[in-house]
Amino acid sequence: MSIKENIKKIKEEIGDNVKLLVVSKTRSLEEMEEAYEIGERDFAENKVQELVYKEENFHKDVNWHLIGKLQTNKVKYIVGKTALIHSLSSVKLLQMIEKKFGESNEIANVLIQINIGREESKSGILEEDLEELILEVEKCNFVKVKGIMVIIPKGDEESNRMYFRKTKEIFDDLKTKKFKNIVMETLSMGMTHDYKIAIEEGANTIRVGTGIFGERDYSK
Ligand SMILES: *Cc1c(COP(=O)(O)O)cnc(C)c1O
Repeated sequence: MSIKENIKKIKEEIGDNVKLLVVSKTRSLEEMEEAYEIGERDFAENKVQELVYKEENFHKDVNWHLIGKLQTNKVKYIVGKTALIHSLSSVKLLQMIEKKFGESNEIANVLIQINIGREESKSGILEEDLEELILEVEKCNFVKVKGIMVIIPKGDEESNRMYFRKTKEIFDDLKTKKFKNIVMETLSMGMTHDYKIAIEEGANTIRVGTGIFGERDYSK
């Protein structure tokens, strides 16, 4: 199937209440154009350099999402270029975002990435460190937290469901509380192989690459 057909099929499946992010990492501007032509405006990248290049060379009315690890020394490159940073994972990173966005008088919209599977290989904050991060967010002037993002451990359907459900519980819990600079709107979870389960468990934003463009070739 073509890129356009893949997108149409996914959008029919997920309905109007779930937002599809087109994960365009490693993909050419020509491939992305196919998605743009049928109305997609939310694109997600995992590398700062690639996001910046595409932001400068693709359509101007696109919302760029950073879904990969963000190093503190790269924050300065994305000021004013991202609609949403999905990977806030530490107090140190928060403080750098506050500083760099503040210098340009820009607001950073971010999601807190939780390492829900407690995997050493993955970034994201551990559940027990959330409170400390939230207290720091309340002190910010240029950072707005809009929700939560997770990348769950590889596993079978039952395991996926368990991690999604756990994340939704944290999301709902924070939603009932009132914190300065925090509104729980976006629950970003689910990729090509598990987005259906993620939606059943409460995701309202999914990130799909392979299911739209086919397998990625990292050698290019
Ligand atoms: C690459 C990536 C995706 C998309 O994965 P697919 O399996 O290709 O759909 C989603 N989220 C993050 C954080 C990614 O890095």
